Amino acid sequence: MGFFSKDIQSMDDLFVHTLRDIYYAEKRILKALPDMIGKASSDSLRQAFETHLKETEGHVTRLEEVFRMHGAQAKTVTCPAIDGIIEEAQEIAGEVADAEVMDAALAAAAQAVEHYEITRYGTLIAWAKRLGRNDCAGVLQRTLEEEKAADAKLTALAQAHLNMRAAE
Ligand code: FE
Ligand code: FE
Ligand code: ZN
Repeated sequence: MGFFSKDIQSMDDLFVHTLRDIYYAEKRILKALPDMIGKASSDSLRQAFETHLKETEGHVTRLEEVFRMHGAQAKTVTCPAIDGIIEEAQEIAGEVADAEVMDAALAAAAQAVEHYEITRYGTLIAWAKRLGRNDCAGVLQRTLEEEKAADAKLTALAQAHLNMRAAE
């Protein structure tokens, strides 16, 4: 489905389309995370991914809740952005041999994913409010907080690791 296909006529259509885009993205992330867990060497990075895998299951469920609240069918539309971010991550991971360099590549890829999600949820919350759907905005806000926390955790892990390296 094209981004500017003519079936997006109203703000409501755009809201539902973007919900379906992030629904696709969350499901794609659910499939990518086990592979990232398998490739991670650092315990703290692996734990961060495992925690976020569980949270991501909750993000899918919350989106289904928002679809239901809004009376829209829960279905996906392809998100070329998340496909690209994940493909790039897999490509880079395929080129890395060293375990520590791999962890750095995985953490950077995960942050790119989080930033994509943060921008989408931020937009969806603003549009939900504009459409008078504060109830939907509230549910989406809970997910946004978890995406931001996941991003902050990855930043903290990367910084702690750099400081440890510097002290060696
Ligand atoms: Fe998410
Ligand atoms: Fe997208
Ligand atoms: Zn996330």
